[in-house]
Amino acid sequence: MIKYNLKCSNNHEFESWFSNSEEFDKLDKKKLLECIYCSSKKIKKSIMAPMVSGSKIKEDGVSFTNKKLLSQKNDLLKIRNYIENNFEFVGDKLSKKVREVYYDKQTKKSFYGTATSEEREELAEEGIDLLTVPWVSKDN
Ligand SMILES: [Zn+2]
Repeated sequence: MIKYNLKCSNNHEFESWFSNSEEFDKLDKKKLLECIYCSSKKIKKSIMAPMVSGSKIKEDGVSFTNKKLLSQKNDLLKIRNYIENNFEFVGDKLSKKVREVYYDKQTKKSFYGTATSEEREELAEEGIDLLTVPWVSKDN
């Protein structure tokens, strides 16, 4: 199960569980998702997207790009623990923080937090890639 932070067109935020990321896309396409507050069907995913430096990840032997790995809940939990122990949580300030680090080459900090798909696209245009990690719950 994957928990996503969702946001409707009226900026209501809520959380919802999906069996996998494809399920979200499928339900979204069929307009089966709606805001729990205002029933808006324009729902977007607020992405949990840690900013990571590639070398650090490799040292730890964890590959975030390995799709197969990401499909396993236990591995996802390991990744979650790794991120929580090694990254600074900045919440929805992620894109701001990531920019600061990107343009100030001195600092090599790693952050995680949430970014909207718009923020993510803006960052990508500036050459900053965010990694998206499905955020699994620690309890069953
Ligand atoms: Zn709403």
